[in-house]
Amino acid sequence: MKCTGEFDVRDIDECCINIDPIQVGGRLTADAMKAVIAYGDGYSVCDQCRKPFRLDYIRTPPLDQFHRDLAAFVNMDVARVVPGARRGFQAVADTYIGKGDPVMITALSHYTEVLAIEGRGGVIREIPKNGENIITADAAAGTIEQVVREFGRPPVLLFLDHYDYQYGNCHPVSDIAKIARQYDIPVLYNGAYTVGIMQVDGKGLGVDFVVGSGHKSMAAPAPSGMLATTSERAGEVFRTTGIRTDVTGRTFGIKEVGMMGCTLMGVTLMGMLASFPHVRERVKRWDQELENGNLVVETLRSIDGTVIKSEYPRKHTLTRVDTINSFDRVAKTHKKRGYFFSSALKERGIAGIIPGATKVWKFNTYGMNRIQAEYLAATFKEIAEENDLVVSR
Ligand SMILES: *Cc1c(COP(=O)(O)O)cnc(C)c1O
Repeated sequence: MKCTGEFDVRDIDECCINIDPIQVGGRLTADAMKAVIAYGDGYSVCDQCRKPFRLDYIRTPPLDQFHRDLAAFVNMDVARVVPGARRGFQAVADTYIGKGDPVMITALSHYTEVLAIEGRGGVIREIPKNGENIITADAAAGTIEQVVREFGRPPVLLFLDHYDYQYGNCHPVSDIAKIARQYDIPVLYNGAYTVGIMQVDGKGLGVDFVVGSGHKSMAAPAPSGMLATTSERAGEVFRTTGIRTDVTGRTFGIKEVGMMGCTLMGVTLMGMLASFPHVRERVKRWDQELENGNLVVETLRSIDGTVIKSEYPRKHTLTRVDTINSFDRVAKTHKKRGYFFSSALKERGIAGIIPGATKVWKFNTYGMNRIQAEYLAATFKEIAEENDLVVSR
């Protein structure tokens, strides 16, 4: 079916059970789809923009209230919407990092954090992971001390991913933030895989910034996201313009420098806004999501040779699995080679696994109902048995 003359309609989430780790939390709600149609035009939220001409002051649609709701949602004081979590990292990096400044990330940090630091000429120091792929508070303390010895001062900023994108493992943000506080290091909480799918308490965790991704975890169109902070830090990261141009002598009111004035002016913001009531409710059902995820994980473990690389039992619906000694063994002799697995899944209506992947791969069960999770588990088992792998229990 064509969407326009040029390209096809996209229907994988209608026709399949999608387990692509990056896509499942960003799928639009029906309300967001309606908003997308109504507010698709450029600058559509600007109809009722009046003095002081800033996105977070617009009352119709209720964007002012939405900004307050977003801050409260992650238990912080002030929030702004940004075009993707990465632009949140960048705004914070631009505020605190100067050339040659040491900046701490972790061995499991996302590349967008690295680029935000690189853009400022910061010097990266990674907190190593332990044998279980966890970033411990001890390791964080050790790296801070190393930075102090090497640079004669602590890092200017610390990026922490609550749940990392590689394993979906949970890292002790609160413990690490406590240590960082002793050195006055601002902490950025990367909630790309948390904000919008589970409850996040920024102040409770003791962090300075909470960044979320609209299109990864808040059922919003791309590129969208949020950056929230405390009232202490808001004046820094959301500083307003003070410039006067030389010839015309113009000034620019209270536009925020780090935000480049306004950020999301149409379909992205309205998609976020329309999904928000649903998102606020769905974070309370995280336990059910974990039950579904663990059900699938249990079945994978029962396939001989399959190893769950993520921490176990799972605390997130994103899981990394090693099938080198199960499905990849089948691939060695199968006529479709490595493609047998993704193609067997596809035939049974499962989408989102990279074609040809049989060694180490990731999946995310977020947003499934119980029946779909049971079906996915049964499908993995069926493909295993069909290819003469031993399934125990
Ligand atoms: C996806 C992801 C990002 C990037 O999020 P965007 O909203 O696309 O910028 C950053 N960090 C982590 C851990 C991620 O998984």
